[in-house]
Parts: sequence; structure tokens; C-alpha cells
Amino acid sequence: MSCPMPPAQPYRGRFAPSPTGLLHAGSLTTAVGSYLQARSQGGEWLLRMEDLDPPREMPGASAAILRTLEALGFAWDGPVVYQSQRLDAYQQALDHLVAQQRAYPCACTRREIALAGQAGLDGVVYPGTCRAGLAAGRTGRAWRLRVPAGLTRVVDGLHGPIEQDVLACVGDYVLKRADGLFAYQLAVVVDDAWQGVNAVVRGADLLDSTTRQIVLQQALGVATPRYVHLPVLVNAAGEKLSKQTLAPAIRPDAAAAELRLALTRLGHPPPADCGGLAELWAWALAHWALSRVSAAPVVVQEA
Ligand code: GLU
Repeated sequence: MSCPMPPAQPYRGRFAPSPTGLLHAGSLTTAVGSYLQARSQGGEWLLRMEDLDPPREMPGASAAILRTLEALGFAWDGPVVYQSQRLDAYQQALDHLVAQQRAYPCACTRREIALAGQAGLDGVVYPGTCRAGLAAGRTGRAWRLRVPAGLTRVVDGLHGPIEQDVLACVGDYVLKRADGLFAYQLAVVVDDAWQGVNAVVRGADLLDSTTRQIVLQQALGVATPRYVHLPVLVNAAGEKLSKQTLAPAIRPDAAAAELRLALTRLGHPPPADCGGLAELWAWALAHWALSRVSAAPVVVQEA
């Protein structure tokens, strides 16, 4: 008897910059790789502004990022989603987890955690102090996910199989912070699911977050997308290019040169006679192959 295959889902990817600074070489490289991975498979490519943390936001950065992407010839599907408009959805997801006893309030201060916890993957591992309930007289400040014990596995498109014991390496992590802001991990999982994203292509600095996100997807009962983590760009000292290392902003008025550089860093150096923006995109779409992209960090010369 033949088994009918479920219809293949069309590829749906996204780029999700945080407007904490302008687009720089690192974030542009991620945008280019995620765009080509989607478009070369006839997929959709969505844009989501992760403006979840107003104190860390740079005024004007959201609009500037969109202008730069446009100047470089990116075209996204549908309207841009702003996480600042999605707070009700994050609260609903948290309420659901709390109702299912998958999330709980935590009264611990940073200092208390630092004293009781041990060093982990991302700071101190939460020691589980409030897991079984708040101590008498204490008030909840943050909300944490009750992380199940055991290994979480993922096969990354570039890095291969990865497994992690999230409870041992990170502990019950924060979903809503003591200052009332929702954590990136919650927002990204809720939005990837809500937007129907089934292919996440992003920077390798987030590789470590992936298992945390899978644990949360399982708790919420939503699908896990495929993952590809593109190389981060580092300077000669091995530091990731970022606002902190004063990475210069991408110049919209030098769009073709910027795109050529990003493609080269992704293992796709365009031929010298491939001049304009449209030509570069056409060449890149025709030649894009993930197998040519380095999994290791790419060292760039700083201007
Ligand atoms: N907003 C995150 C960043 O700019 C990316 C999140 C993601 O792609 O999952 O680093």
C-alpha cells in the first residue's frame, strides 16, 4: 500500500534584527545568507524587528535598518512585524505555560543566583531555588521556564548534530524579566511559530540558544523549524564584530560593494565583471550553495 506523503510545506525564512544599532558587516552577512537560502529555494523571507528591549534600543535604528536593506535590494514578504506590538501574544504564551505549570515565578535577585549557582553556558546556571514555590514572604519578580531534564538534540544545516542538557548547562531560564520585559527566547519562539517560520538562518552566536528554543517549542506544543547558523565575523583579535567592537555601519550608498563583501565572506566571491546590485543578486541566487559557507568564524580586515 502506498503511503501518501503530506504536502511539502513551502520554505518560510526570516531575518530578525534587533535595533540596538545600525546594520553592520556581521548582521548584513546574516541577512544575505538567510535571504539567499530562502529565495534560492523559491521560499518566502519575512522581516521581524526585534524591538523588545527599549532601554537597549538605538533611536532611529529600526528605520535605518529597513532603509539599508532596501538600498541593498532586499525584498521581504508581507509587512514588517515589530515585537513591540506583540506583547499580548507573549503574555498569552506565558499565561499558558503558567497554567500548565511549565513556568513559575522567581523571587531571586541576581546576587542570590550568583552566590548559589555555578558557571554555565550563559552566565550562572539557575540553581532552581523557586522551582518548588516561592519561599514565605518572597514575591515573584521574574518568570522562568521549568526546563525538563535530559538532552535536547538538533541537527544544524551547517554545524551538524548538536545536543545539550539545557537544565544542566543553563537551568530554568527567564521568560519574563524582573523589569517586566519579555525575554528574547520567549518572543522568538512565539513569533517564529505565529509567523509559520519553518527555516531559521541566523548567526552562529545564537547556536547555543537553539536548544533552549526547542525546549520552549515543545512546552508550547509548536513545531521546531530547521536551523542553519551562519558564521560570525570576527576581527583579527577573534572578537565578534558588533556594536561593542565598534563595527562600522553598512553604507547604503555603496550597496554593490557591501553586497560583494558579504557574499565573499559567505564563500561566494562574485566574478570581477559582475558589477551592479541586480547582477550580483542574480549571480548569487544562481550560485548559492550552503556547502560553500564556512561553519567556522570568518576573520575580516577592519577598515
Ligand atoms: N534579534 C536577534 C539578533 O539580532 C536575532 C534573533 C534570531 O535570529 O533568532 O541577534
